[in-house]
Amino acid sequence: MNEKKLRPSWDEYFSHLAIIVGERGTCDRGHCGAIIVKERRIVSTGYAGSPVGCRHCDEIGHEMNTVTHEDGSKSNHCIRTTHAEQNAICQAARFGAAIDGATIYVKMSPCYTCAKMIINSGIKRVVCNQDYHASARSKEIFKEAGVEFVLLDEEIVKY
Ligand SMILES: [Zn+2]
Ligand SMILES: [Zn+2]
Repeated sequence: MNEKKLRPSWDEYFSHLAIIVGERGTCDRGHCGAIIVKERRIVSTGYAGSPVGCRHCDEIGHEMNTVTHEDGSKSNHCIRTTHAEQNAICQAARFGAAIDGATIYVKMSPCYTCAKMIINSGIKRVVCNQDYHASARSKEIFKEAGVEFVLLDEEIVKY
């Protein structure tokens, strides 16, 4: 009864905020959000959406693309949006916020393209709420490039 509510850790705090940011997303196939943090301060945020000025999935439907994987299996993805991680990096560039050495909090483990951009933007730590099923290559290159990868929840998301 007199159980004290635990104060969230910094990782939990920023991870929860990344999920809230993702709610602004405009493609319902994955409401992803990202927050870039430096010295415990938020320097940039991003959510999955069409490029600025372009029409959204919510208005004109998805832009579906079929991907054939190495093992021959196929999956469908909407390619209309700029991903949350990419938008957070773009916003930092647009407003002149240095993100070298920063941490990025994302709802789901990043795709291969986002992983490459994260590495080259100087981000040194990636914290995710959920694992994305096709993120094996991302984890490989994070390890190779010396970027720390932290998964808060072991649940794997497929879509
Ligand atoms: Zn879409
Ligand atoms: Zn991505």
